[in-house]
Amino acid sequence: MDRPARKTSVASEATSEVSPARLVAILLGPPGAGKGTHADRVEAEYGVPHISTGDLLREHIAGGTELGRQVCGYMDRGELVPDQLIIDLVTERIGQPDAAGGFLLDGFPRTIQQAVALEELLQEKQTPLDVVVLLEVDEELLIARISGRYLCRQCGEDTNIAGLDSPPASCPYCGGELYQRADDRLETLEERLQIYRQQTAPLVEYYKGEGLLRWVDGAGSVEEVAERLIEALGAG
Ligand code: AMP
Repeated sequence: MDRPARKTSVASEATSEVSPARLVAILLGPPGAGKGTHADRVEAEYGVPHISTGDLLREHIAGGTELGRQVCGYMDRGELVPDQLIIDLVTERIGQPDAAGGFLLDGFPRTIQQAVALEELLQEKQTPLDVVVLLEVDEELLIARISGRYLCRQCGEDTNIAGLDSPPASCPYCGGELYQRADDRLETLEERLQIYRQQTAPLVEYYKGEGLLRWVDGAGSVEEVAERLIEALGAG
């Protein structure tokens, strides 16, 4: 399929030495919409890194870093980490060489303040944002997906036990031990959904106003949703 064209405001740079970014995009959507699952397909399709702030923070926690210690309480409670910590983390990550040709952001921005900081950052890099895709899934499905999600301590794959008569006792891929993320438990999940409605959902209007928003129906098989998503990104 065709790669998304760059915005006309920077098209003239194509003749300069700056190589054009292949895709700079944001994947927006509530927890459980499948952003991480589909972002990996997009990463393969466009050859740009999938940058998930949730994954970056979990790596810091696992690595026992100072940032990890600062954020783990917020994450376990399902609350947002303070904006400035996240903005610094993203600034550092998108400055790395593998992000020079573009990137797909997942889980960032989550507040208007983060969106404004991102805009400033992209302006400094003279890299326009191509498209923002909103992955839409109704709340009942989100709750079923997340509260049934278990991860493997060994291989990291996730398994969904929602609706299964006999949930697996161990990872179906490698036999490793399964565990549930603290913030996927029902009580915490409700808090995350509430925060999404209050703090993140306003970004829909924000990006609609900028003419960058596309909608994708997040219900259906992984393959179906990934196809829709790739099409929507290409339409940016
Ligand atoms: P996720 O894996 O995207 O669901 O993120 C897991 C948790 O990481 C969230 O519930 C927040 O505590 C924290 N987090 C991830 N991204 C952000 C962000 N952009 N702003 C604030 N907190 C974040």
